[in-house]
Amino acid sequence: MRPCATTRPAAGSCKQWHGGYPEIVAAKKHLLAGLVVAVVAALVVVSITPLSVSPPAPERSAADGFSAGRALLLLREIAAAPRPIGSDGAARARDAIAAQLDALHLAPHVQTASAVSAQSGRVAGTVRNVVARLPGRDPSRAVLLVAHYDSVPVAAGAADDGGGVVTLLETARALASGPRPRNDVIFLFTDGEERGLLGARAFLREDPWAYGVGVVLNFDSPGSSSPVLMYETSPGNGLLVREFVTGAPHPYASSLMYEVSRRLPIESDFRPFVAAGVPGMSFGALDGPAYDHTAYDSLESFHADSLQHEGDTALALARQFGDLDLWDLHREDVVYFDVVDGLTVVYGKGLVLPFVALAAAVFAVAVVVAARRRLLSLRGLSLAVPATATVLGVALLVTAVVWGMYRTAYEERTWSETGVVISDFYRLGLVLLAAAVIVAAYELLLRRLRPWDLAVAALFWWLVGAVAVAVTVPGASYLLTWPLAGASLGLLAAVLLGDRALHSAAGVAVTLAGAAPGVVLMSSATYLLLMSAGLKQVVTVLAVWLVAGLLVIPLGVVRRGSRLWLPVALAGAGFVVLMAVGSTVAFDTEHPRFTSIYYRVDESGAARWQTVDRIDDWTGQFLREDLRRQFQDAYFPQMGVRSTIVGAAPQVRLAAPAIEVLRDMTVGDRRTVRLRLRSPRGAQVVSLLVHSVVGGLTASVDGLPLQGWDTTILDGTTVRWWFDYYAPPPAGVVVTLRFAAGPAVMLRAVDFSYGIPPQLAGQYDGRPPGMLPGRIGDGTLVERTLRLPAVKAAASPPTTR
Ligand SMILES: [Zn+2]
Repeated sequence: MRPCATTRPAAGSCKQWHGGYPEIVAAKKHLLAGLVVAVVAALVVVSITPLSVSPPAPERSAADGFSAGRALLLLREIAAAPRPIGSDGAARARDAIAAQLDALHLAPHVQTASAVSAQSGRVAGTVRNVVARLPGRDPSRAVLLVAHYDSVPVAAGAADDGGGVVTLLETARALASGPRPRNDVIFLFTDGEERGLLGARAFLREDPWAYGVGVVLNFDSPGSSSPVLMYETSPGNGLLVREFVTGAPHPYASSLMYEVSRRLPIESDFRPFVAAGVPGMSFGALDGPAYDHTAYDSLESFHADSLQHEGDTALALARQFGDLDLWDLHREDVVYFDVVDGLTVVYGKGLVLPFVALAAAVFAVAVVVAARRRLLSLRGLSLAVPATATVLGVALLVTAVVWGMYRTAYEERTWSETGVVISDFYRLGLVLLAAAVIVAAYELLLRRLRPWDLAVAALFWWLVGAVAVAVTVPGASYLLTWPLAGASLGLLAAVLLGDRALHSAAGVAVTLAGAAPGVVLMSSATYLLLMSAGLKQVVTVLAVWLVAGLLVIPLGVVRRGSRLWLPVALAGAGFVVLMAVGSTVAFDTEHPRFTSIYYRVDESGAARWQTVDRIDDWTGQFLREDLRRQFQDAYFPQMGVRSTIVGAAPQVRLAAPAIEVLRDMTVGDRRTVRLRLRSPRGAQVVSLLVHSVVGGLTASVDGLPLQGWDTTILDGTTVRWWFDYYAPPPAGVVVTLRFAAGPAVMLRAVDFSYGIPPQLAGQYDGRPPGMLPGRIGDGTLVERTLRLPAVKAAASPPTTR
């Protein structure tokens, strides 16, 4: 049997093969087409299936091993309630941690210190870190394990980061009951992580143990399920990664995530350590619905499998690094990725460019051989290169239009007020739609252009991408280099088969095998990014387009099977998924609406209810129509100045925050004011606001510099400068402001406590199902203002105002 085309076929030709019974030929074509689709689908499914980890070990398992069962008992205590910095919940968790460490005879201490957030420079607080040390046999430097015990105000924080806390506690127990490692192992349970990594910063700045740390292992999960990924390392990670890969029982890591995470403003306790030059790694579960920082991050939604994986990793690495010389862990950066469970590829960054060159060489050989066999034409290539790029443009355009329409239609139902999408399934719909558009576009192109020209053009774009990524983001280069190499080999094999490859099972087999590395690596990377980084659809469409480019020859075969059925099926499935998500997902107990109420007493003593959300079934009972609602801008810690709906509230006696002027001195044209800021009612946050225009403001709290004048909020209430202090001690904190001397200055203190006054809480109904406290939860705020009188700037040095 001869293939119909040894030269370029006319458009749409090749329906009939020469020889053979038409029914048998047609059946064979359909079978082959079905096989191609099945193989690609199977590769995608396998590569996004999470790696299997050990089931949770029961409470009564070996004493020197990690048991998620035992850790869960501790987690019930730790994650019983929210524990934001300064709260009673935080105090109870701290006591529980210290008691457990005491029982292990690890002599824990609580480090109490002030710290300022690096990120904002306007957030500070008094942190209480719990620190303990397991002495080693013959220490070099110490292994430091870190987890944060605070949570956001509205979450019990079982995953973020109760899981990390009990991972450390159970690891400490297992280490203490097994053979001692050579190095000391320090366990650090930080406070105030959620408010700007305050605990980690305080430890690094003030705790003497910080100086002897040789490696830091941070455990903090933004997600609730899935295996625990090593998502961040310090620079110069070659030795760290190799130790991790050999030491951890199920290593799960990707240098792509390292490249992504170090470019994102991810807040984790790991960052201050990296900034201080301490080598280390960060671990956490990233998968799971968008539960992080909501009330759904609770014991009920917690996954014990993730905990076992996290614990197995922590214990194995504590032992691995515990027996290593930690004086110098710095090595060349490496590229690393999982191929299958238990097989992690690691190689030095120095090999990135040689490997790209190798892939490019294989591609070049395939192109040269194809050209010599007259499978390519210059005209065909010069059309195919821009045409394949156009496919991407069309796909981006179509998905953007569909996406825009979809958001307009379903915004109310599927997005919460904070812009958080309440179902992730829509992303699957988008991937299917993008695939439909791209496959349809290739189907049209295959009518006009030869598969050989198109396949080479598609790989040309892979080559461009591989070179660009290798130069700019070397850790992500594996994602393009190996698929390019694989697909080029597949192409070369197909070229050697000649035009026969376009019809035969052998042609399909070699090109599919060549495409397999790309399908696998792209699918798993896209899935990882979708789950962790909230991937933009541009990147999703780009990934689908790249994968389709590896499959031009098999797509040509599918097309012969039966024309447009594949794009139609993909589009249909995409629409079904999108419509199903849009019309079934709505705010309910599974997908709550976030709504909060605040009780505020201003300086005149007048009390008001306020919400930054809407008037709904729940806030309506506070903000009743007959009490004359109005709108008003108001200041909140963490949220800044927000527009609120305000209504009258019953009077409760609450002591106002105190601002005491300790010193007010003008030297030259600079005025220095020292204040003591205090919350007599013991609120968890106290904020200071400057309401007047002052020149060149600099500020410090307890001697720590705060961010000054340059980022001001100018809005309805003209707050010119502000800062929040969390967990202020009863005696208060000392704030020093320096600014240009001149007119009078209006200062305002606002203190904030979690929850509404207990005297009032009983008079109102709790939230109905489907509603949860959002952001900083419910709260009580009391305000006081202080006017600093005008002063005259001294004549010398001259005033420049
Ligand atoms: Zn966290």
